[in-house]
Amino acid sequence: MDISKYPAEPFRIKSVETVKMISKEEREKVIKEAGYNTFLIDSEDVYIDLLTDSGTNAMSDKQWAGMMQGDEAYAGSKNFKHLEETVREVFGFPYLVPTHQGRGAENLLSKIAIKPGQYVPGNMYFTTTRYHQEANGGIFVDIIRDEAHDAGLDIPFKGDIDLNKLEKLIEEKGAENIAYVCLAVTVNLAGGQPVSMANMKAVRELTKKHGIKVFYDATRCVENAYFIKEQEEGYKDKSIQEIVKEMFSYSDGATMSGKKDGIVNIGGFLALRDEDLFLEAKELVVVFEGMPSYGGMTGRDMEALAIGLKESMQFEYIQHRILQVRYLGEKLKEAGVPIIEPVGGHAVFLDARRFCPHLDQEEFPAQALAANLYVESGVRSMERGIVSAGRDINTGENHKPKLETVRLTIPRRVYTYRHMDLVADAVINLYKHKEDIKGLRFVYEPKQLRFFTARFEEI
Ligand SMILES: *Cc1c(COP(=O)(O)O)cnc(C)c1O
Repeated sequence: MDISKYPAEPFRIKSVETVKMISKEEREKVIKEAGYNTFLIDSEDVYIDLLTDSGTNAMSDKQWAGMMQGDEAYAGSKNFKHLEETVREVFGFPYLVPTHQGRGAENLLSKIAIKPGQYVPGNMYFTTTRYHQEANGGIFVDIIRDEAHDAGLDIPFKGDIDLNKLEKLIEEKGAENIAYVCLAVTVNLAGGQPVSMANMKAVRELTKKHGIKVFYDATRCVENAYFIKEQEEGYKDKSIQEIVKEMFSYSDGATMSGKKDGIVNIGGFLALRDEDLFLEAKELVVVFEGMPSYGGMTGRDMEALAIGLKESMQFEYIQHRILQVRYLGEKLKEAGVPIIEPVGGHAVFLDARRFCPHLDQEEFPAQALAANLYVESGVRSMERGIVSAGRDINTGENHKPKLETVRLTIPRRVYTYRHMDLVADAVINLYKHKEDIKGLRFVYEPKQLRFFTARFEEI
């Protein structure tokens, strides 16, 4: 492996947090008590935490300094103004509605933009996004290109929308029955796969013809911009900021979880181009989040997010992030461990179908693999497969996604390359005795977003 391809951390460490490793016997006890659900393990019992990159980021000295400048006035906080200015500058949206995190923005958007019975096409789904769409009477339709469902296929821009699928849906259902197109950059559940600028432009042209709006899930947009710079013709010499601005010029607005590419621990927003929609969102935010000038965030949180958004546009930052994730992926690939290819923006996804071919999908192979990886090494990961996909709202049957994966998600600016080596060793060791991984069955299954709190036992 050519280590020179991977630049060292573009930061030095000013504050540290001690972690401890408990014994394998203790971990066996912990996972049983957690019902084989890695979401239910105490943080203190985890050695390297790759559960999620959501809100687990390390903030910079400048962001912490910003925290001290929180203006905690109930209305008209100066930090809101700073965040609003930053969103205008970075994304080009005139109107900002802050929310406590991404799903708060998804709730508002679904409420103002979906009429019951309307279709909401999207490039694969995200758990909370689809929940809010469906809870507001929308019918989600997956219009991502077919290749996105093929875990082993290594091609660029696997997150693209299939324009034929979109055109066919508009023809069949009529433009008036489409609420809007939901375009996620990058596509989390497809493995953090990016969308090309060409595709965004084409989606804009097609929807414009039919008077359909396009809203982005901007949560991972900086990662997406890096892939465009690296792999799409004509963008090599453009800055990350220029690319981000162009991406959003093809949309009518966006929901954003600041906990990802905003490099903060909490926060999010809905950004809009249309004043009427903005006024509707502003009326609702008071009910669900808080005053329109804080929307569930403190002043200091808004300040940290404003600073984080600007930092995320720095090339060295995002290059290190993407390449650190790729480094882990390359190590696993070299050892023959089946992963989703190409490696996406925020995580390496183990392909649990090929990792545990002895388990049926109804035996929750990815859930079992995540539990076993924890026992093996103290590394915490997350299931992204049949358990996360939930049940069909009408038939009650399990959704059976083609992708049955375990996500090793890398928090921003938290771990070093040496940590990635340890994670790779743990996965490779487990792969050597993968036949020992037993299937699981539910002992408790919540109705909504079941993966968060479900409990299992070994079959
Ligand atoms: C995390 C995430 C969300 C939801 O954001 P929260 O801040 O967790 O509510 C939405 N979309 C994508 C792609 C995400 O990764």
